[in-house]
Amino acid sequence: MGYVQGLKCRECGREYPIEPIYVCEFCFGPLEVVYDYKKIAKVLNKKKIQQRAKTLWRYKELLPVEGDPVAGINAGFTPLVKATRLGETLGIKELYIKDDTVAHPTLSFKDRVVSVALTKAREFGFDTVACASTGNLAHSVSAQGAMAGFRRFVFIPASLEPSKIIASLVYEPNVVAVDGNYDDVNRLCSEIANKYRWAFVNINIRPFYAEGSKTHGFEIVEQLGWKTPDNVIIPCASGSLLTKIWKSFKEFKEIGIIKEVDAKVFGAQATGCSPIVTALKQGVDVIRPVKPNTIAKSLAIGNPADGFYALQAIRESGGYGADVSDEEIIEGMRLLARTEGIFAETAGGVTVAATKKLVKEGYIRPDEITVICITGNGLKTQEALNGKVPSPHYIKPSLASFEEVMKDKGLL
Ligand SMILES: *Cc1c(COP(=O)(O)O)cnc(C)c1O
Repeated sequence: MGYVQGLKCRECGREYPIEPIYVCEFCFGPLEVVYDYKKIAKVLNKKKIQQRAKTLWRYKELLPVEGDPVAGINAGFTPLVKATRLGETLGIKELYIKDDTVAHPTLSFKDRVVSVALTKAREFGFDTVACASTGNLAHSVSAQGAMAGFRRFVFIPASLEPSKIIASLVYEPNVVAVDGNYDDVNRLCSEIANKYRWAFVNINIRPFYAEGSKTHGFEIVEQLGWKTPDNVIIPCASGSLLTKIWKSFKEFKEIGIIKEVDAKVFGAQATGCSPIVTALKQGVDVIRPVKPNTIAKSLAIGNPADGFYALQAIRESGGYGADVSDEEIIEGMRLLARTEGIFAETAGGVTVAATKKLVKEGYIRPDEITVICITGNGLKTQEALNGKVPSPHYIKPSLASFEEVMKDKGLL
């Protein structure tokens, strides 16, 4: 293959060979994969993509791997659902859900990044893979690492929802539950990554890992009939997904698959952890770290690694952001479920509620094509809904009891 030219520092532009490294030795800027777009443009077109299997590997020339995938072989190409009923409720005529709650091995968008990271880890010759996670990444590294035959260490905040911890443990990786928040976990993992030769997917493999997120954006464009939507609402934790969706649109233009990038990207965060949206609202470039306090634990990164680049992408696109309370998040999850039959985790509640706000505030107009990114399945965070959904109708096992109770409630 050979479409990757090397790594490059996003800040000073210094170039590096393809190695498991992630920060510039000179200015400490993050490293990013550089491709030979001229070469890719010669071999990749719409027709070729459409002829390939419906997985994220249909865009493989734009991913930083050389050979065949060893993980996530069937991951990606999740549905883009036309959300008419939700659109009516929110006042948007043409609304779509990019639904990453399904069609992935562990039911969140993290399977995209992990598919690429583990394939690259094998190419680099690692036998142990690891991650610092708010939950979903741990599931994906645990499951996909099992499938690809890696030794696995996943590091999580001990305060994670019990069901999210079980959903990693079942794959029998080494789960390390740290007495601290995600930012503490991440700091510890950077130290471990410096000492042991392990592939930390979101630390030393991060430049490659992050590229997997682009496939969410490529798919949106393809599924809309090869055009960018007017608006995309994206949940932000580290800010990587948002940055890479924006990059995916620009890459499709760069290689001639689309003529124009005419899209605004919007960041969605929980009010209890909204460093990126706060910087947007204040019109500043510096992201001030926060201590997360929200039910949207998968987005609870108080010191977002790609926050600055997410801000840049949002501003460059003409988009904006919104933050929503825990109550609004729950209402967003319930609204999506009762209008579209999609059970999203708390992060999905964040994007739905943020979209509602952005429409109300006039940032998103009713006649614009709008895509809401739903990134994880609700079965993973059922605790969040405890006592927040209606209760069942309790009856005796008889027709009489059924009719009595239903009539009592005016349902018959
Ligand atoms: C990790 C995650 C995100 C966003 O991640 P970034 O760090 O911003 O790329 C969004 N939704 C869910 C469900 C996640 O697990």
